[in-house]
Amino acid sequence: MSAVVIDGKSVAARIKAGLSAEISRFNALGQTPGLAVVIVGVDPASRVYVNMKKKACLELGIHSEEYTLPEKTTQVELLELIDQLNINPKLHGILVQLPLPAHLDEEAVLERIIPTKDVDGFHPVNIGKLWSGLPGVLPCTPAGVMELIKETGLGIAGKECVVVGRSNIVGKPQAALLLREHGTVTLCHSRTVNLTEVCRRADILIAAVGRAGLINGAMVKPGAVVIDVGTNHNADGKLVGDLDFDSVVNVAGWITPVPGGVGPMTIAMLMKNTVESAARC
Ligand code: NDP
Repeated sequence: MSAVVIDGKSVAARIKAGLSAEISRFNALGQTPGLAVVIVGVDPASRVYVNMKKKACLELGIHSEEYTLPEKTTQVELLELIDQLNINPKLHGILVQLPLPAHLDEEAVLERIIPTKDVDGFHPVNIGKLWSGLPGVLPCTPAGVMELIKETGLGIAGKECVVVGRSNIVGKPQAALLLREHGTVTLCHSRTVNLTEVCRRADILIAAVGRAGLINGAMVKPGAVVIDVGTNHNADGKLVGDLDFDSVVNVAGWITPVPGGVGPMTIAMLMKNTVESAARC
């Protein structure tokens, strides 16, 4: 039997519709939530992501300001810009598009953003709050994945949850969010031994690696919820995830597609974080 395909686009549209109503309430008070997007250099993938974020702001009526800086921007110049954005009352969220050019210190830049405007949820204060179970800003992609899991109607408490990938942006915060919902969480990475066996234990399996086709049907427990965070381009230049979709779809109970799964959720959660940040001001 074929898995139910979770439609990330429609879940994201629902979340954005809810935000639209909230933004109207801001507008009625003469206010508008605002997001600053900072991009350094000319990485084509970063350009695409920034455009998608600006488009979502435009659709929802969120004020957005783009700061495009040349590749040779110095650390001092970038930190000075962040300092200005931190005190700009029109801006409630600041997003620095990653990756930054190699000469810039990514950690120092992310730490310079005041935690209340850190709509990506990457500041150590927000990461600490996440792991401590305190309210704070949640990273967009893992928060979006949680919404997609909710769509199945299955609870997370007590479930075997396996996350493949341990980055600070996706894997680790994903593990924290699943743990917070009382999942029994295993975090896998490139040194994990017997990845197939570990994955096959999962009631909820999340692939966040960046390798096309890494997870196939033989690695999936029948009926499992399988979420594909990966974005890769195959030999034909087509956007694909980390799942060998055709084999996993025949084993899993629920599956997310690429494109149209996690991607739209990441943007929707960024918009949500921006509106929530404005509400806190
Ligand atoms: P990173 O490259 O930072 O991390 C990849 C992780 O995968 C690492 O922890 C690495 O292990 C692990 N890994 C690599 N090879 C294997 C393997 N053979 N078996 C098991 N684990 C392995 O990537 P990100 O977390 O930033 O992103 C992951 C994917 O998600 C990418 O495709 C990215 O494009 C996509 N993405 C999609 C988003 C969306 O909105 N749809 C948002 C963010 C990311 P180790 O730590 O040991 O090196």
